[in-house]
Amino acid sequence: MRITQHLLIPSADMTQMNGNQPDKCALKILLGHYWSPQGWVPDNKRTVALEDFEYAKSKGLMFDPLEISHSGVMSKLLSALRKAGPRLTADAFIASLSTRRLDWRSALGSYAVFRNVRDHEPMSEDGRSCDVCGLYLKRSVEDLNVLNFERFKWGGVRHTSPLYAMLDLELFLDSSVPKPSPSDIQIFRDLVRLFMSYVLSFIYVGIYWNKLQYASYPPVSALPMLNARFATA
Ligand SMILES: [Zn+2]
Repeated sequence: MRITQHLLIPSADMTQMNGNQPDKCALKILLGHYWSPQGWVPDNKRTVALEDFEYAKSKGLMFDPLEISHSGVMSKLLSALRKAGPRLTADAFIASLSTRRLDWRSALGSYAVFRNVRDHEPMSEDGRSCDVCGLYLKRSVEDLNVLNFERFKWGGVRHTSPLYAMLDLELFLDSSVPKPSPSDIQIFRDLVRLFMSYVLSFIYVGIYWNKLQYASYPPVSALPMLNARFATA
């Protein structure tokens, strides 16, 4: 991450937190660092003004590079998993449906992937990543900003990474996520209904496909008679 002259620093009256919403200017700094109307900003063009970076950092959206070991990630991840739990993350997922808060939606995936992980020593045959949890072992300094960018932009991408899950769940626990509203519940019910209609349509297609196979081909027991019929024709 390169630091340049600041471009996005907001005025003082724009710096107030809006309830459980992320600071808009800080979020703009984070998103603009990685994404442009043309897509990903190339590595060599990713620059951020020092003041902008400090501002986004003060709002909890950007971070200094993190030096962390395998045991450090595991310790933080296990602690976050214990605090988060299935109910809290599921509620956050449902609460994200009407609000479109993809950062809230992300927590359920991180929890689901690592809910059964246990503390362990790093084990690796190739020395690159841990065979148990998948954490890359050769990187000593981690860039958490790109992970947080993906969290806000797409609801997370690297859900199988313990580092992402650690960051995601820690930020989730630090945020104030409201209970699902009636409109969230209604959207969720509509989604379940839609999902069930897809499941039923696949079952119907399977039944018709199975029937079609029997309708198109003679039963195996009839093959000798057919052979005899064509042999004498
Ligand atoms: Zn591991």
